[in-house]
Amino acid sequence: GVYADFAATTPMDKEIMEQMLEDSMEFGNPSSIHKVGKRAKAKLEHSRREAAGLLNAHPSEITFTSGATEANNLAIRGIVSRFDHPHIITTEIEHASVLNTYEALEEAAEVTYIPATDKGTVDTAALKAALREDTALVSVMLVNNETGVMQPIYEIGEILAEHGAKLHVDAVQAFGHVGIDVKELGVDLLTLSGHKIYGPKGIGVLYREKDVVLSPMITGGSHEKGRRSGTENSLFIGAMAAAMKKADAERTVRSIKEMQLKEKFLNNMTHAEIPFEVNGDVNQASSHIINIHFPWADSEFLLTALDMADIYVSGGSACSAGTVEPSHVLESMFGEDARVKKSVRFSFSHLMEEEDIDTITEALKDIYERLS
Ligand code: PLP
Repeated sequence: GVYADFAATTPMDKEIMEQMLEDSMEFGNPSSIHKVGKRAKAKLEHSRREAAGLLNAHPSEITFTSGATEANNLAIRGIVSRFDHPHIITTEIEHASVLNTYEALEEAAEVTYIPATDKGTVDTAALKAALREDTALVSVMLVNNETGVMQPIYEIGEILAEHGAKLHVDAVQAFGHVGIDVKELGVDLLTLSGHKIYGPKGIGVLYREKDVVLSPMITGGSHEKGRRSGTENSLFIGAMAAAMKKADAERTVRSIKEMQLKEKFLNNMTHAEIPFEVNGDVNQASSHIINIHFPWADSEFLLTALDMADIYVSGGSACSAGTVEPSHVLESMFGEDARVKKSVRFSFSHLMEEEDIDTITEALKDIYERLS
């Protein structure tokens, strides 16, 4: 079969897996004061320095969490709970871990949701107009997980420059594909996930600019400087830092390969005369994700037919449910248009071969011909 759903999750890197097996012998609790604990603590802090360095952050600005969902929750709830009914802004195209957190806070805060244009980028004019004196937080993702479209974070940073509102960026789909320098990006909070960069599931990173104060969600023994209690998952933290390091080192090579695969995919479909349109501005998209509108078939039908041909892709975000619901991202871009229900996300990896692309497009051609 061909797996082309790398935005949903990636397989674990073998080198990192082997390293984890070795590291697992070092079982100490980083909070213990004896030598075994101190060794674990030293390893943990080494991983933190590595993660920080790769983002151009200071180690004290890095908090390890159970994943990007928790990191996004901590960023958002950690800010909101410090204010008395603040105004907060996010976009209609965020991942569920941001969008549903904003929705859950609708009593504690006043929430504004900014739509996307049909190019797949957030409407920055609407964002600028929505900004108020009491706006405490703005959450906008860097790369959209359904369309791959990069969001105008620099421009949003400029809009917020003279304003006290904190800028929170979900960079889960960006890291390893787009260079990330938190200082240059001008963000206050930024989140990453291990399992999107060939690391383990259940580990994430929250970058928090040193002057940003967050209320913790999980209280206890004051681990992670009180921001996230609970004995640190040293093993996964080590693997996260290693995954970040490798993804960063191989970023250009991986992205070029992904771009080539994407181009071949589009060329193959054109040559095979399969009717399609790209959802979102392909020129502003990350190398690994492409969302395609097929006017001739419903998403659900296509996903099933492709699955039967052993080709694994998704409708929108797999992270949300497991059912095929109309994508909230495409709805924000296109409204009630039928294309929302006739679109499929393909996400590629440097691990794929050109032949995998041929297999996918041949299957698509086959399905298309059976329908017409
Ligand atoms: N944010 C984005 C953009 C994602 O694609 C995902 C995918 O799962 C998440 C957040 C959640 O990350 P995690 O699975 O580590 O909680």
